[in-house]
Amino acid sequence: MTFKTLARPAGVALAVFAALALRVPGLDAQAADWAQVSDEAIHTLQDYVRIDTSNPPGNTSKTADFLTAIFTREGIPVERYESAPGKVIIVARLKGSGAHKAILLENHMDVVPADKSRWPHDPFGGELIDGAIWGRGSVDMKGLGVIQLYAFLELKRQHVPLDRDVIFMAVPDEEVGGELGARWMIEHHYAELDPEYVLDEGGMGSRDLFAKGKLVFGISVAEKKMLWLRLRVEGVAGHGSEPHNQNPNDKLVKALARLVSEPMPSGDVAVVKTLEAKAGPLETNKFINAITHSTTSLTTLRGGVGEPPKVNVIPSVAEATLDCRLLPGVTKEAWLADLHRRLGDPSIKIEIIYESDDSVVSSQDTPLYKALVAAIERYHPDAIVSPILIPYGTDSNAYRPKGVKSYGIFPAVLPAEIVFSMHGDAERLPAAELGTGIRIMFDALRDTLRE
Ligand SMILES: [Zn+2]
Repeated sequence: MTFKTLARPAGVALAVFAALALRVPGLDAQAADWAQVSDEAIHTLQDYVRIDTSNPPGNTSKTADFLTAIFTREGIPVERYESAPGKVIIVARLKGSGAHKAILLENHMDVVPADKSRWPHDPFGGELIDGAIWGRGSVDMKGLGVIQLYAFLELKRQHVPLDRDVIFMAVPDEEVGGELGARWMIEHHYAELDPEYVLDEGGMGSRDLFAKGKLVFGISVAEKKMLWLRLRVEGVAGHGSEPHNQNPNDKLVKALARLVSEPMPSGDVAVVKTLEAKAGPLETNKFINAITHSTTSLTTLRGGVGEPPKVNVIPSVAEATLDCRLLPGVTKEAWLADLHRRLGDPSIKIEIIYESDDSVVSSQDTPLYKALVAAIERYHPDAIVSPILIPYGTDSNAYRPKGVKSYGIFPAVLPAEIVFSMHGDAERLPAAELGTGIRIMFDALRDTLRE
């Protein structure tokens, strides 16, 4: 992952496709044939998954063309930007009365790479097998992109009166940090978006991810703070035949053993307490562990001389990297002080490689949040809906420090096994979830836009 500061690209391609189609504000909503919409969405997702947008290189020009063709057919104008060669962003907009700031539906077109040899089915085949659409991106995040797409199209098809603009934005680059996607748009074209709300990935519904045997929909309202660190120990090089007490590998290994042997600290996070109060005792799994603790993953270890490293040489430097994720309320300073204590070796230098913004929690006392809850409960009467914290980073965190209320929700019921398979080799979306997901998303938008 790179997080370089971006120079402004020389040529930003901006093209406006399609003329504004005639809209008749105030016309009574036309009922949709939802079975047909679901069918259409399934085919669209299959085709969308078939376009390989593995990142790297993360070229999204073909997916941008694909989505643009759909909008053009529906008479919706599309603006196109290119943050770097092949990094295409599209923005489609339904114009509203302007009484409020926009709602932004944001989704990423890039996917993480797939090792074809390990998949039971072609990761870019988009096959419908046993009721599930298989392929890289079927869940993360082309599936949710298609739910947003059809909810957006239905607002137009049904002539829903809009008290504000609704924007659909598909971006590249999310899987490597978003610098050339959402963050690039925020840096260079914020005025064109300026949303009150962002709907993005993050939470989802599940019967076994949050609490055993209960259908819980978690709407993400906050993310943990990312803090990526490099530990560096300097010692004295020497011959492997003559061990001495200045071997940096020894020092690093001992310090890391102290670090990982102590349990990671938990904390009182209001959002997590709310989830517990609503859902009862939480499951024991890595997701729940990650939202109830600040965590550290030891991700790389490096020590040795030469390539390949020599077995008989004691190096003079050893390094490790840590991916730390901090609960809301834990400051960087407090975390680093505690890390020094855990490592127990003042000679270890800690360098910050990357840090994200401090956690900001979006308010749940808003019309859109309440409309999401009501829509989920309408289609899933047994659902417990709760705000949640998510352990991973998404693009929506880039908006929260600007006061934007960002909610992350894949309005589908996903088994924990599928949630955990997202970057793995069995990513698939139960096809029936698409139709219900579109209806939840559509209802929540319609009810908010009719304020
Ligand atoms: Zn994603």
